[in-house]
Amino acid sequence: MNTADAPDSSEQEDASLDPADWENLRRLAHDAVDQAIDYVRDVRKRPVWLPVPESVKAALSEPLPTGPRDTRAVYGELLERVFPYPAGNVHPLFFGWVHGVGLASGVVPEIMAAAMNANCGGRDHAGIYVERVVVEWCKSIFGFPAGATGLLLSGTSMANLTGLAIARNSSGGEIRQRGLHGLPGRLVAYASAELHSSITKAVEILGLGRESLRAIPVDSDFRMDIAALRASIAADRAAGHQPFCVVGTAGTVNTGAIDDLETLASLCREERLWFHVDGAFGALAVLSEKQRPRLRGIEKADSLAFDFHKWMHVQYDAGCLLVRDGDLHRKAFTLRPAYLQEAGRGLAGGGEWPSDLGPELSRGFRALKVWFALKEHGVERFGRAITMNCRQADRLGRLVAGVPGVQVTSAPSLSIVCFRFRPAGWDDASLDRLNEDVVADLQESGLAVPSTTRIHGALTIRVNITNHRTRDEDLDLLVRALSDAAARRIEGRRS
Ligand SMILES: *Cc1c(COP(=O)(O)O)cnc(C)c1O
Repeated sequence: MNTADAPDSSEQEDASLDPADWENLRRLAHDAVDQAIDYVRDVRKRPVWLPVPESVKAALSEPLPTGPRDTRAVYGELLERVFPYPAGNVHPLFFGWVHGVGLASGVVPEIMAAAMNANCGGRDHAGIYVERVVVEWCKSIFGFPAGATGLLLSGTSMANLTGLAIARNSSGGEIRQRGLHGLPGRLVAYASAELHSSITKAVEILGLGRESLRAIPVDSDFRMDIAALRASIAADRAAGHQPFCVVGTAGTVNTGAIDDLETLASLCREERLWFHVDGAFGALAVLSEKQRPRLRGIEKADSLAFDFHKWMHVQYDAGCLLVRDGDLHRKAFTLRPAYLQEAGRGLAGGGEWPSDLGPELSRGFRALKVWFALKEHGVERFGRAITMNCRQADRLGRLVAGVPGVQVTSAPSLSIVCFRFRPAGWDDASLDRLNEDVVADLQESGLAVPSTTRIHGALTIRVNITNHRTRDEDLDLLVRALSDAAARRIEGRRS
């Protein structure tokens, strides 16, 4: 043996990234579990949001670590610099944007998934079968046919992109081979003017360009105007364009509106267009007996994107895409070079691989936390939590409507209520400023977190209750705190 190749006795010990003392690590991990459970259990005692102090931001911007450090010292820094400064969405008084709250027991599958460190791109191991059954469960939740396929993704942004890629590739022409060059006309997609920005991004990323996305006007309930959609499709066909896809939204981010999915589905069938549903948070309202009728038609979608991390509260990140015609799904993505051939037996077996159904090859074990959540709670319990949130949104709508000087800008729909303070005699810009300040005041107080949006151009306070921890008293407190903050601002301007 060449002496240069002789093993240095300490080299292999040095190079291993395993702990020198496993018992030390075990004690640290036990402490971490205790901290994690206390953190969630006691969340109500903490402010919803604490800005990250400048000193902590500075500490976090340190240079690249080059040498090793004691694990417990690193853990100490995590506790000091990271753990105390969350966005606050674990808290019962978090009502901003559309965030999930998380599941206390969700810590457990996350730990186990970290230990397994599964790559769920493919091959024959438990992770593949767990994801497969989760997809089957989702098909049954939404009434999709047996031949449908599905894929877990980081969220609805990726699921929208993936769904629209399949729609585009199924529009005729050899898109995978020739790109958009082989098409006779411009591909055009349609969504309501209340569409989510991820649809716009998807159209951009897919090379279609924003000019290929029609934002169809909405009616007084913020639902896509079907007559306007028909007219737009006809005009595009007359102009020699190639309409290919309609995106229906099940739960718009601004107001919680649900497009008329049933009518959109039949329109798409008549017009031979792909029907994609962006159901990021709203789709799972099918689990609520009371809300389900509003989502009729969702079962007819060609593709459906939704999130587990919003109204099912599975830990970030976890979204899903379902595709009615599994063959079209496969055709859009399957590509197996020699080293990825399916062997039919051994670890390289396992049948269809998730990497055949989307852009990612290496993928984490997202399915485990979803599987755990569905097994532990069952769909009925998730449905009841959704029903409760919708009732709370209705109740909040009535509460704020009774506050003097408040205008309800969008009636409660699903989990969302929008309203603004409108003292007499203020101009539009001052009203916008007032409502923006009231929301920021409340966020900075740590008491509650609503957010803002614009409705018909006017800046509006937006409260979204996708929160299984919220109680009616929390909403009473929110209304009082908002009213007090507004009164202080209004008084401040007078004096
Ligand atoms: C949240 C949301 C998205 C984006 O989903 P992510 O999981 O954040 O990527 C898309 N559409 C709607 C309607 C949403 O509410």
